[in-house]
Amino acid sequence: MNKYEQYETVVGLEVHAQLLTHSKIFAPDPNAFGAAPNTHVSHITLAHPGTLPVLNEKAVAYAVMMGLATDCQIQGYNQFARKNYFYPDLPKGYQISQDKTPICYGGQVVLKNHNGTTKTIRLTRIHLEEDAGKSSHDQHEAYSQIDLNRAGTPLIEIVSEPDLRSGEEAATYFRACAPIGAVLGYLRRQYGRGSRRCDANVSVRKHGDPKLGQRVEIKNMNSLRNVKRAIESEAKRQIDLIEQGERVLQQTRSYDADTNTTFALRTKENEDDYRYFPEPDLPPVVLTDAYIEQCRATMPELPQQRYTRYIEQTQLSPYDAQQLTDDLAAAQLFDQTAQLTQHTKAIANWLLGPIRNYLHEHQLTMAQCPLSAQCLAELVELVEAGKVSFSTAAQQLLPALAQQPNAKPQDLATQLQLLTHDDNDLTAQIIAQVLAQHPDKVKAYRHHGKKGLIGFFMGEVMRLSTVKLDPKTTNKMLSEALNN
Ligand code: ADP
Ligand code: MG
Repeated sequence: MNKYEQYETVVGLEVHAQLLTHSKIFAPDPNAFGAAPNTHVSHITLAHPGTLPVLNEKAVAYAVMMGLATDCQIQGYNQFARKNYFYPDLPKGYQISQDKTPICYGGQVVLKNHNGTTKTIRLTRIHLEEDAGKSSHDQHEAYSQIDLNRAGTPLIEIVSEPDLRSGEEAATYFRACAPIGAVLGYLRRQYGRGSRRCDANVSVRKHGDPKLGQRVEIKNMNSLRNVKRAIESEAKRQIDLIEQGERVLQQTRSYDADTNTTFALRTKENEDDYRYFPEPDLPPVVLTDAYIEQCRATMPELPQQRYTRYIEQTQLSPYDAQQLTDDLAAAQLFDQTAQLTQHTKAIANWLLGPIRNYLHEHQLTMAQCPLSAQCLAELVELVEAGKVSFSTAAQQLLPALAQQPNAKPQDLATQLQLLTHDDNDLTAQIIAQVLAQHPDKVKAYRHHGKKGLIGFFMGEVMRLSTVKLDPKTTNKMLSEALNN
C-alpha cells in the first residue's frame, strides 16, 4: 500500500448559489446578469448614508423551499447579522448575512452512485446573504475595476457536514445541489458565470482514525472539474506534509488550475475577525408554520419525485430517467410530448440522442430547442409508424425541422422525399437480384455461418433501390430470404 492509500480524504463543502429573484435581496435594483457595469446600482446598493435595507420576501420563500427540498428544519425566528470586513467591492463595509439563526438547518442531500447505491450527505445549515460586487484585477494595466451590479444580489450558502470522502464525491455533491434548486426555479442553470461557487474544506486522516484532521479551506471554485482536482491535489499536499513529520496549518488557500496546486492566501493567525453582530437595520423575520406550509404547497416537483415517476409510471429505464431528471428543460419537453404520444421510450431516445447532439453541435441548450412538443410528438409517430427511418429522420428531417420549426414533420418529409416506401414487391425484387449477383457470399452466409454478411447485403439492396426502403422491413425480408 503506498502512503496515499493509507489516508482518507475528508471534505465539507460551502456552496454559494444565486437566487433567481427579480430584484436584489435588500434593494429594488434588478437582479440580472450581463448588464453594462454599474448600471444596477441604486443609492441603497451604494450604501449612501441614510439608506435602509428592505428584505425581499421572494428570497426568503426560495430559501425556505430549498430547505424543504433538502429535509431541513426551518428557523422560526430569523435575525440577520452584520459580517464586517473591508473590501472595495463591498460599499457598506459589511455584508448582511445570517450567523446564529440560519434560515434552514439539519437536512440532507442524497447522492446516487453509478452502481445504484446511495450516500447521504448531511447539511449543517443553509443561510441567506447578499453577494458582494465583482472586482477585476486583470482587465487594466494600472487599475483594478469594480462592477457593483452583483452587490446585494441574493445568495444562499449551503454548508455540508464533513461527510464527503473524495474530490470526485465532492464534485458529484456540488452537481447534485444544482438540480434541486433549478427545479425550484431559483438557481441558475448554467454553470460558471459566477452563479454557483463553492469553498471546499479539506483534511486527511489515516483510515480508521475517528478523529478529524486539521482542515484547510480552498476558496471560490465554480467548475466540477476544479472542485475535484483541487481537493485531490490539496489532500496529496497534506499527506506529503504529514509523512515528512510536519504539521498541516489551518489556512485559507486558493487553487491554481494551470499548475494543479493550491497556494496559501492567509493562515489562521491572520484570519479575519468579522465581528458579527445582529443587523440593527432589519427587524427579525418570524416564519410561522402556516407560512412554511404555504411554501411547501407552491413547490414544484422535485428531481427525486420526477425520477420515481419516470420509472414507475412512464416505464423509462433508470438511465433515461436520470438523464432527463438532470436536465430540467429536457424533462419539461418530455412531459409535454408524452401528453401527445404514447411512445415515451422513443421520446426519451430522441431527446437524449439526436436532439441533444443537434443542440450541442449548434451550441444551444435544451431550453432553446427549436422543436415544440407537438412537432416532436409528430416526428416520433412518423418514425414509429415506419414512415421515415430513424437514421434518415435523425440526420435529415431533424435539422430541416430545426430550421423550419413551424412545418409539419410529415409535410417536410414528403417535400424532402424522405418517406420510406413500403412497396414489398419492389423490395423482394431487389433482394432477389442482389442474392443472384453474389452466389458465393450467399453460400458463405448459409453454409459457413458468416452471418455478418447481412450488413453487406443490406447495403447492396439500399444502393440498388431508387427509392428509400424502410430499413426495418427490408432487413426482415432479407433475413427471411437468406434463411430460406
Ligand atoms: P468557516 O466560516 O470557518 O468557513 P463554516 O462553519 O462556514 O466555517 O464551514 C465549515 C465547513 O468545514 C463545513 O462545511 C464543515 O463540514 C467543514 N469541516 C469542518 N471540519 C472539517 C475537517 N476537519 N475536515 C474537512 N472539513 C471540515
Ligand atoms: Mg468558510
